[in-house]
Amino acid sequence: MTESIEPAVGLPVASEAVEAAGGLGEEGARLRRDDLLPIIRRANELYYVADAPELSDAEYDGLMRELVAIEAAFPALVTPDSPTQRVGAAPTGTFGEVVHRRPMLSLGNVFDEDELRAFDARVRRGLGVPPAPGPAPDLRYVAELKIDGLAISLRYERGRLVQGATRGDGTTGEDVTANLRTISALPERLHELATAEVRGEVYMPKAEFARINAEREEAGLPTYANPRNSGAGSLRQQDPSVTAARRLSSWSYQLIEDGPDGRPTVDSQSAALARLAWLGFPVNPDRAEGLDIDGVCRFLEDWREKRHELPYETDGVVVKVDRYDQQERLGMVARAPRWAIAYKFPPEQVETVLEDIVAYVGRTGTLTPVAHMRPAKVAGSTVARATLHNLDEVRRKDLRIGDWIVLQKAGDVIPEVVRSLPERRTGSEREFEMPATCPVCGTAIVRDEGAVRHYCPNQKCPARLTQEFAHFAGRGGMDIEGAGWAVLEQLLARGLVRTRGDFYRLTVDDLVSLDRFARKSAENLKASIERSRRRPLARVLNSLGIPQVGEQTAIDLAGWIAERWPAEGMDPAEWTALVARSLPAVSAEEFQEVPGIGAVVAGSIAGYFGAPETAAVLADLVDAGVVAEPPARRVAPGSGAAGPLAGKTVVVTGTLSGFDRPAAEEAIRAAGGRASGSVSKSTSYVVAGENAGSKLAKAQELGVPVLDEDGFRRVLAGEEP
Ligand code: NAD
Repeated sequence: MTESIEPAVGLPVASEAVEAAGGLGEEGARLRRDDLLPIIRRANELYYVADAPELSDAEYDGLMRELVAIEAAFPALVTPDSPTQRVGAAPTGTFGEVVHRRPMLSLGNVFDEDELRAFDARVRRGLGVPPAPGPAPDLRYVAELKIDGLAISLRYERGRLVQGATRGDGTTGEDVTANLRTISALPERLHELATAEVRGEVYMPKAEFARINAEREEAGLPTYANPRNSGAGSLRQQDPSVTAARRLSSWSYQLIEDGPDGRPTVDSQSAALARLAWLGFPVNPDRAEGLDIDGVCRFLEDWREKRHELPYETDGVVVKVDRYDQQERLGMVARAPRWAIAYKFPPEQVETVLEDIVAYVGRTGTLTPVAHMRPAKVAGSTVARATLHNLDEVRRKDLRIGDWIVLQKAGDVIPEVVRSLPERRTGSEREFEMPATCPVCGTAIVRDEGAVRHYCPNQKCPARLTQEFAHFAGRGGMDIEGAGWAVLEQLLARGLVRTRGDFYRLTVDDLVSLDRFARKSAENLKASIERSRRRPLARVLNSLGIPQVGEQTAIDLAGWIAERWPAEGMDPAEWTALVARSLPAVSAEEFQEVPGIGAVVAGSIAGYFGAPETAAVLADLVDAGVVAEPPARRVAPGSGAAGPLAGKTVVVTGTLSGFDRPAAEEAIRAAGGRASGSVSKSTSYVVAGENAGSKLAKAQELGVPVLDEDGFRRVLAGEEP
């Protein structure tokens, strides 16, 4: 087992590493330290201040460990401003400052089971408990998933949120109260008039990260490296409406609260988590309590693969001594408690062959080079394609067709080519060039002066149209069953469909003319087109493909529209026509009234309906007989108004593809229902996503109706499940 030294200089480190550093001699160590310091300082600045790291976390951790080893071998080299003695980075001055009442610490890291057991050994020594395998019945650990987000501290007074801050340098953080208030997972009011400080992590769900990066890529903007950086960038915004539009979420894991007797209201981490949940905070259910170190190791093993299925990113497991009195006895070192440690999962990278690079035309005409690779298993799934973003990126990473490359998943979701392995070249590799003409329509490709984006300027390029129409007919849009890619390509190529409204003008005879279409399949497609004629307004809006407007924004927008032009007492077709006529006159400022929509998205929506050719898309749908159903009115708490889920209790379990947990719960509340965490006879519905477990079983046992994600969407929209 790796011995690990008592971390007198900061963070724990394996004794071999210290020995190796000792071998450098003091002068050699000083020189190496002087090399490391500027690199680590710059990485900190890029990571904590600019939210745009250039090193991977594993590379950074490697450098930090080297520095820690040097300082452990030669304590005289430790300076108070060493990165090993500090947490994060000081506030930038962009926000007000908040001095934390108690410092917000970092955590020591371990990277394998041996190091974790060495942590247990240190804890036992510190508490005077006999070393393993001796019994330690009073020493229990809590294991929590380590959320890769941004640490925050929230101050509640008499049950109300009064202030929220980032960790900053651990002593002073940034006042981001207004931005934190936009995160629906965080309660404004507690279930008790408690006065407390609550700490936790704000994170960006993987799906949101993927959505934002896809939008940024289409718009030719630099993409975020991972959900942590995009989450931090989204929270540290001057304009809270930008934060609101980013759909962040949060888990709370630390409670600082004194009772009337001046003593903490709880005496252990497990009790703190239970109390946090009771007060109304989001507490991650995926945790384990009452563990010995073997139990902790089993927890790590359990989550090593399963974590890839979570809707948010975790980069490890935080192990905490449960009892507060023991925590106090153990105390802390420079910047981290001695009673907790972060176990970091190893970065998952694999090597494979870059077989080809192919340029694809996107919905807005952008040409994106995509890596076609020999299929390789990474972070829980087999990957054969990865976007290379743009030509500059291909050149920066020096990628050539035929290269061996290193592949990983950015933020555990998006396959990413990390770098090429030039040492494995044979000489037969080829440079990639962007095509001079559009691979689909042959129009000359354009690159604007100084821009990174190449694009096909042809508005009618079939590649653009097929993608736009696939989005239109897809599940988040009009949901026309049977209108797959091959069918769409033919409909467009033969001129049977030129506008979206044309779908509704197709006849069975038109459809019979498609390849491999018999009368029966033509009739089926016609029937599913007819079924899609009536859809909730949010789906109709989403189907249009308005830049920056996704499923959730479309729901928010539909709610606002229904309040502005009430549908009560109107024929739905007339109401749809009224909405289509009215939207072009709405200004960007007015669209900013929509909850959750910021200036950029509002501008995009106003631009879309303000331009005659795009506004005509909705008008054409109305003309073709599409009817948008008004959403159920958003129910203000206590208003007495009924939403589609009024009086109903809904439990969500497992992973949904379109909602993370907080978003699903918010949607239930917005529809007038109550979101609950446990299934009982009085539960109205259980919404079961992927990997649903015991709650689903319980629902089946009790005969509670179970909905899949589509069913959930339908009940939210007031339809039959
Ligand atoms: P850390 O991220 O290793 O661990 C401490 C943090 O974990 C806490 O502050 C807290 O915010 C978080 N955390 C998440 N879930 C938690 C839970 N359940 N309980 C308690 N805490 C929880 O330490 P750090 O000081 O925030 O940052 C250092 C890390 O940041 C490095 O290890 C590296 O991965 C990354 N980093 C990367 C670069 C880079 O250039 N890539 C630069 C600087 C830092």
